[in-house]
Amino acid sequence: VEINELIDRLVKFRDERNWARFHTVKDLALSVSIEASELLELTQWKTSPDVEVLAKGPLRKEFTDEIADVCIYLLLLCDKLAIDPVAAMHQKIEANELRFPKDEGGERGT
Ligand SMILES: [Mg+2]
Repeated sequence: VEINELIDRLVKFRDERNWARFHTVKDLALSVSIEASELLELTQWKTSPDVEVLAKGPLRKEFTDEIADVCIYLLLLCDKLAIDPVAAMHQKIEANELRFPKDEGGERGT
């Protein structure tokens, strides 16, 4: 599915419920963070190895749902700000390719 089709579907869902008035830039950004926190909540008080197992098995549905929630609010925020998410990610990857040259060891970042 094209990402623009997804955005169109989300906007249609929003508009059919007259929710656009609630979708300020501030509240969409807050919602991204809140949903990301719900994703983190699934890992709270668990060890990293346990989370590896849970995310792939018993809690896979919950992980999938929270990942979807984060993505949905990000796409709504992109729509609100007329940001092309695919272009934005490509630009970021290109910047990171320049910032972190190949074969320099295991450094990781964003
Ligand atoms: Mg959620």
